[in-house]
Amino acid sequence: MFRRILIANRGEIAVRIIRACIEMNIETVAVYSTADKECLHVKLATQAVCIGPAKAADSYLNMKSILTAAVETNCDAIHPGFGFLSENSEFARLCEECNIKFIGPKADVIDAMGNKAMAKTMMRNGNVPVVPGSIGALKDYAEAEKIADEVGYPVLLKASAGGGGRGMRRAESKEQLESAYEEAKAEARACFGNDEMYLEKLIINPRHIEFQILADEFGNVVHLGERDCSIQRKNQKLIEESPCMLLSEELRTKMGDAAVSAAKASGYTNAGTVEFVLDEKENFYFIEMNTRIQVEHGVTEMVTGIDLVKEQIRIAFHQPLTFTQDDVHLNGHAMECRINAEDPAKGFLPNSGKIAFLNLPGGPGVRVDTLLYNGYETSPFYDSMMAKIIVHAPTRLEMIRKMRRALMELSTEGITTTSDFDYLILFHPDFIKGKFNVGFIEEHMEEILTWDAFGEGDE
Ligand code: ADP
Repeated sequence: MFRRILIANRGEIAVRIIRACIEMNIETVAVYSTADKECLHVKLATQAVCIGPAKAADSYLNMKSILTAAVETNCDAIHPGFGFLSENSEFARLCEECNIKFIGPKADVIDAMGNKAMAKTMMRNGNVPVVPGSIGALKDYAEAEKIADEVGYPVLLKASAGGGGRGMRRAESKEQLESAYEEAKAEARACFGNDEMYLEKLIINPRHIEFQILADEFGNVVHLGERDCSIQRKNQKLIEESPCMLLSEELRTKMGDAAVSAAKASGYTNAGTVEFVLDEKENFYFIEMNTRIQVEHGVTEMVTGIDLVKEQIRIAFHQPLTFTQDDVHLNGHAMECRINAEDPAKGFLPNSGKIAFLNLPGGPGVRVDTLLYNGYETSPFYDSMMAKIIVHAPTRLEMIRKMRRALMELSTEGITTTSDFDYLILFHPDFIKGKFNVGFIEEHMEEILTWDAFGEGDE
């Protein structure tokens, strides 16, 4: 097995990876910026190396600095976590050149999937259903107009390099198309330095359903069931659960098979996620593949009992999967609430502060992945996600009750978080009944924010 792994990340995901390494008897090297000297991952790793100043571009995105740290500490592998360099093919290539195993898919596959227009074309060729729209990228605005006419309005303009819900605009009609096109292009240019666009039919009231897959380096691919990530704000996930209560066993098998085909069509290795939108008539369409571990991976770990980070490490060490599709069973229900240092009443504006008092939930079926500890001063420089509360129970209703109980126990004095907002969603009758789609938060925002029946209105 690897002797020493460098974790090219920070915060709770770095902690999560360190935990897997310790249990596998692998030494860890944490990297940190000058702003993160007191961060939990630095304290938990076998050793830690400072890689630069607070600005991510100079530290967590500084490939040279990270690779130098890895070489100097004799690491044989790098785990990139999510965000930062996790989907950067140049970094994956540089790791290889330094004889350090990048824990993720091959650089070429990252490239192919990183361009979403190209990925869709590859999927279409692999017989995976994709959202109707342009084949590959749009040449110009005239082509956007032509294809929008063909597939019918409303349509969605999306950036090929997009991510995090940015570089995306909808157009209800031809009148709105040109401004949507220009706005999406400008945002994509600013966010990703690449304004290539593609166009899709807007699926009305879809659910966001994604499949976790694992692929070893011997051609074996399995899926670990789905996550329903429809509770989103600004196209970003807030609450995720598995299984999705809408999927029949038949539909799960069909979508799971499509996810496995998607992985095979791209020559995928390691852990990945195939994202679909599911419409009201149970048609599903590929939207993108994420070539890394996801924030919400813990939900799948709870229902399958499979440690995804350990599997990633084993696969990267060129070990075959030790189970087949038939061995994977979804047991009970799991859900995750993201605790972001954001104020829902102020449009989810991020904030930071010193944690004056921290109480983390516990008890049966509760898992907490966090970077917080008492006295920690959260950083305004990085992602606002502070903790992930994950619960597991035999039925969906028990799971919801357990999550309410867990959020009641959670206390993070010193910062404003999404915890109360998450808590209120868990009391919404439509949420309890499973009657929601990706528009749920937007639709119920006012109602949830002004809810004075805090803790009442139970099922
Ligand atoms: P990003 O990579 O920026 O997250 P995605 O392609 O994964 O972008 O889409 C993010 C979200 O936007 C999805 O979860 C879904 O809610 C919505 N979405 C994306 N494509 C469509 C579509 N064709 N129709 C309706 N909603 C969509």
